[in-house]
Parts: sequence; C-alpha cells; structure tokens
Amino acid sequence: MIGLLAATAAGRRAAADLAGRLPDARQYEGPVGVELPRAFAECDRLVVFLAVGATVRLLAPLLRDKAGDPGVVCVDEAGRFAVPVLGGHAGGANELADRIGELLGAVPVSTTATDAAGIPGLDTLDPLGWTAEGEVAAVTRAVLDGDPVRLVADRRYPLPALPANVREDAAPGAPVLRVSDRTAAVESAGAPVLTLRPRDLVVGVGASRGASAEEITALVDSVLAEAGLSRRSVTALATVDAKAEEPGILAAAEALGVRLVTHPAEALASIEVPNPSDAPLAAVGTPSVAEAAALATAPGGELLVPKRKSAPAEAGAAPMATAAVARRPVRGRLALVGLGPGARDLLTERARNELRRASVVVGLDQYLDQIRDLLRPGTRIESTGLGAEEARARSAVRLAQQGHAVALIGSGDAGVYAMASPALAEAGDDIDVVGVPGVTAALAAGSLLGAPLGHDHVSISLSDLHTPWEVIERRVRAAAEADLVVTFYNPRSRGRDWQLPKALAILSEHREPAATPVGVAHSVSRPDEWHTVTTLAEVDVRTVDMTTVVVVGNTASRRIAGRFVTPRGYRWQS
Ligand code: SAH
Repeated sequence: MIGLLAATAAGRRAAADLAGRLPDARQYEGPVGVELPRAFAECDRLVVFLAVGATVRLLAPLLRDKAGDPGVVCVDEAGRFAVPVLGGHAGGANELADRIGELLGAVPVSTTATDAAGIPGLDTLDPLGWTAEGEVAAVTRAVLDGDPVRLVADRRYPLPALPANVREDAAPGAPVLRVSDRTAAVESAGAPVLTLRPRDLVVGVGASRGASAEEITALVDSVLAEAGLSRRSVTALATVDAKAEEPGILAAAEALGVRLVTHPAEALASIEVPNPSDAPLAAVGTPSVAEAAALATAPGGELLVPKRKSAPAEAGAAPMATAAVARRPVRGRLALVGLGPGARDLLTERARNELRRASVVVGLDQYLDQIRDLLRPGTRIESTGLGAEEARARSAVRLAQQGHAVALIGSGDAGVYAMASPALAEAGDDIDVVGVPGVTAALAAGSLLGAPLGHDHVSISLSDLHTPWEVIERRVRAAAEADLVVTFYNPRSRGRDWQLPKALAILSEHREPAATPVGVAHSVSRPDEWHTVTTLAEVDVRTVDMTTVVVVGNTASRRIAGRFVTPRGYRWQS
C-alpha cells in the first residue's frame, strides 16, 4: 500500500488527486507529525507533500533498516518535483517518483548514485531482475569512481553494458563483481566482492499427497546447499500437473519466492532421466517427476543434482518428497529496435530501455549517431556503412549467440524494409529475440500530411536493388486496380529516377489524376523536414529523394483545407 500525507491544504488537494489515480493508495488525513509514524509502519511506500528537510526530521527516529523501511518520496506543494528520499532502489521510491512524475507532471529527482551516472544500479541490476549480495556499496563505489573492478562471471551472461573499468583482466587485488549461482567464495585477495545471482536454476520436486511445506523446503535447501548452489539463483519450482494444487509444494514455492511450473505427465515421461522409478509411474503416470520436471523447465539445460529424497519429519516415517536441480543454458538476447523517423520524442520508451539494456549495439552509422547519448557508458558499438545489411544482421545474431545482449537498430520500424527479417532468417531458437515496434515512415508522414491512411492501404518499396522491377510493377498495378492508398518507400535516388514516374503513371490509369491527392513528405521529424500535398497530375518528382515517402490517395481521397484526407467511408459523411 502507498500512504499519502500532506501538511497544507494545497498538499492535501494534491494527495487526494493522487489517491484517486493510484489504485493502491491511501490518504492519511490527520497532522503529518502524528500520521507519519503510523503510515511508516503500515505502508510499503509513502508520498509526503512536505519539504525534504521537514520530512527527514520526522523520519529520523523511525529508521530501522534498508530492507524493511518503506520507500519515501517527497513532493513539493506545487507538485513540481518528486524526490525519492529513502529506499530509492530496494524500497521502490525511484520507481514511485517516476510514476508520480507522470501523474502530476512533476520532475522525478533521483540522487541514487548509480542511476545518476547511467550505470546499472548494481544492487538491483533492474533489467535482469537478479539479486545482488555481498559488499554492494564498496564495489558500486569502485565502479563509479572508475577504479579497476574485476568481473568474474561463471558463464557469459547477457549483462547490460558495464563501464570500461569493469573488466575480466583487472588485477587480482581489485574489487570483484561476480556473476555466479555458486555459493563457494571467490578468490579476491581480501578485496570486496559483490555477487550477482543469475536466475538460472530450476528445482524439480515430487511429493506424496500431504507432504508438508517444511519437509519440501528443507529438502530444497539441503539439495542446493550440498551442491553449493545459491537459493537466490532459483527461478522456479517445477512438478507434474497432478501436483499443481499440492499445498506443501505451493507453500514451498512461496517460501522460496519463486513461481511453480507444472508439466503434463506425458511430457515428463518422454524425458530421459538418470533415476526413473516405478512409484511415480503408478501414482501420476511418469517414471520421473523431480528430474524430468527440472529438465523440462530448463530446456537444453543440464541436470546439476540428480533426484534426492527428503528426510522424513518423524523418525521411521517414509520420505514424502524428492527434488532435483537443473540449470538453464545461458541465452543471449537480440533486441530488434526501431528508432522511429528521427525525432527523439518519437522514439518509444521501450526502445530507449532496450538500448540501455544492451551491451552491444549494431547498426548503421547514421542511426547510431542518433542515439549514442542514450547508451550506457561501456556499450560496445558495431557500426557499419550502407549496404552491409547481411554482414550487420549476421554479426548481430552471432554476438547474441555468444551470450551478449545485443540491440540491432534501424530507423522507423526495424521490421519494415529493415534489419529484422535478415536477422531472424539467420537466428536459431538458441537466443531470445525481442522486437520493439517503431513509428514507421508511412505513419510519421501520414500524420504530417493529414489522414491519408484512413482506409485500406499498402506500402511498396520502389527499390529494385533486391527486387526485380517486374515484381514491383505487378504489385503497383494490383494496388492500382484494388484502389488502395499507396505509400512508396525508397521512391527515388540519383541512380534510380524513372521508377517513381512509372509507378505514378500506372496509378493514374485507375484514378483521376487531377482529383487524386499525392503527399510528399521529406525527412519527417528531422530538422530538414518538409511536406506538400498536391495531386497525381501536378506532383513534381524532382523534389523526391531517398529520405522521402510519397503517398498516393485512392479514388475517394480528397484535399480538404490543404490536408490529405482518405474518407473512412462512414455513411453519415456521404
Ligand atoms: N525501417 C524504415 C524504412 C527503411 S527503408 C521505416 O520503418 O520507416 C528507407 C526508406 O524509408 C527511405 O527511402 C524513405 O522512403 C523512408 N523513410 C525513412 N525515414 C524517413 C523519414 N524520416 N522521412 C521520410 N521518409 C523516410
């Protein structure tokens, strides 16, 4: 729950406004001095409409520890700033300040060092959802100060970019940033160690009806401890469908803070395991539950700990549970990110996040220049010139296969006449692929020209570099006959100047040239943007170049007040 407190009428009004818009919020109406201690005990997060100084004085006697204290955000009376003062990362105050920023139009003011410097908050490494343990503050400090920090990773995990001072070959006495699911200590010559726990372990469990949560949890803990594996690296418990409602298993998953994944008995029966047995075959229809469920939830992974039986709760009783541990293979990540037509405010937030999530960014020089300032320090950049599409696609996929977090970028939408298809043609099922849609040129141009795409429409590229002209011409003709609005991409370049006039002539055979609107939109959303709405009869193709799209209306499209409008076909307008 989010507690809202205010000291003045203006603050109370803002608090009431927020209370109505934040679903899990509650307003404390009494005097702040009285209500704050109560709210501090009752809520996970607080928003205080009060000066930071006054809030700090009230909070001071209440502070206990970083893990348990609520996150606190102060907002000034005028609602201009939202300042996380306590629990920026762990307490969720940074995230809450961002949310309030959006709701109230306030600027979130974060002072947690790692965010301010554009370095992943090492104590959360948010994009991965991993936990950090050990000497978080000391190692984060060293990272920020630019001191050498030694990166020790058991495997090549798809980490976001880390600054250049964090490297595998740093001297042995340097502070250590370690990525491992193992509990064994790492050799650090006394230097501080921060360990990130990748979530890559799956514990398969089998249980007889009525097995207690204690017996299962104790078994899971001892299996992990004996194998030297961290509980924090467990991402799921897994079992057979028939045990999906078994209370002891559900409670054990909750105690571990992980989800429960279940599989049909037939699926488990088909998995080869080291220790099949008759008892589960008779009970639930598969010779293995723990080992098979662990492996089924970690496809392509390895079984680290074969099946073990629980210690019965009472001496002489039969063991009620079994457990086995599998590790998921590391999967690299390929994000296909569309940057939009050019302007920064047409780049989606998701695209921005993916750029910051990546450790390698692959793309054309000109697009890289467009977003270089958004990348984390230390991001590796693989830029290529025009024409190297295939090499670019291949290199992005190869880097992801090596376990990196790669962003392959393109203008507009990455899937529209762009890199997504050549990349996915190369990619296997051994990497994770994430697509981020972008505002494609046709849409950006459309909103500039008016509403040209109000009815059925098609995009056609006039580039005959990779497509024979006969094919292009056939498509233009089909669009003409079908009375579709057409957006031409790659319409005209110095060496390709006859294709556009030809395409427009084909359309003119099926539409009245003097009455059919044509929109020409150049460098949409960039500094040299211009556009014009004319007609098929009057369009001057010499103004068209490769950073232009040309939109041709259908037989119902009209020029209205200088704008290009394709009617939606509503009866009330005819
Ligand atoms: N993936 C891009 C398209 C790449 S093909 C997208 O989704 O927009 C390149 C063509 O797109 C250019 O020749 C031009 O026709 C068009 N284009 C891309 N950006 C443009 C912009 N800002 N303004 C006008 N046309 C643009």
